[in-house]
Amino acid sequence: WMRPNPDAIARASTVDLHTDRPHTARIYDFVLGGKDNFPADRAAAEGMLAEWPSLRVAMRENRKFMHRVTRYLVEEAGIRQFLDVGTGIPTSPNLHEIAQAVAPESRVVYVDNDPIVLAHARALLTSTDEGATAYLDADMRNPAAIMESAEVAATLDLTRPIALSVIAVIQFVPDEVAYDLVARLLEPLPSGSYLALSAVTTDTDPGAARVVAQYNARGIFMQARTKAQTAKFFEGLELVDPGVQLVQHWRPDDTPTTADNESGVYAGLARKP
Ligand code: SAH
Repeated sequence: WMRPNPDAIARASTVDLHTDRPHTARIYDFVLGGKDNFPADRAAAEGMLAEWPSLRVAMRENRKFMHRVTRYLVEEAGIRQFLDVGTGIPTSPNLHEIAQAVAPESRVVYVDNDPIVLAHARALLTSTDEGATAYLDADMRNPAAIMESAEVAATLDLTRPIALSVIAVIQFVPDEVAYDLVARLLEPLPSGSYLALSAVTTDTDPGAARVVAQYNARGIFMQARTKAQTAKFFEGLELVDPGVQLVQHWRPDDTPTTADNESGVYAGLARKP
């Protein structure tokens, strides 16, 4: 496996984490029950949970979607390479743990632009000997920086299928940028590659819209999308059954117990022809 760039680690340890301001990765971590968050993050998250208590259920269902779609990709689609953009603070099991539990030779590049995620990158780099994991500190709004990185070059074979996962992160990017950046990340990937994506919606409950308003009021850009706007990310690709659905309805292991109005996330998986 590759160590994260030592300069990047040094930068992360000296960088201002802006602990006085809420951050997306830390809000998500707090709501999921993690401990890598600060008072400003907790205050923001508590405010959002007060507006819409289902936020916790919605975020947990999103995380479970990540687990299921990764397992599907390894078990059913034969994928052994992953590019995970917007990784988040490590929460076990992480993507490589799911993939390598089935196929130890799986290789994963994690990408995030939050210094606190970088500071925790070691937890993402616990690869099997047969496989590999790498961490890249980059902004997904610059797809070329990702695709031309040393981490991608050293870890992924671009002549063989790769699953691009963009899970619960595209809501932080406006339409003008979002569709283009996903297309540009997919562009260099060969036929047989996949896009796994989930995106925030307010179609299901007015509480979800209040949460989105809270993010924006606290200075974190967030855009919710309808089912059609989410489906647009998969244009030109072959959607895997059951298409774009609320996260809990995407190939659930058991009958979902989460009601539609408790979920604020659409998800889908599609194959590049
Ligand atoms: N994919 C994980 C984590 C989602 S939280 C999951 O679904 O469980 C969203 C993550 O996206 C945060 O860690 C945040 O730092 C990251 N993120 C937000 N904007 C980003 C950007 N422009 N480039 C890279 N990562 C970004």
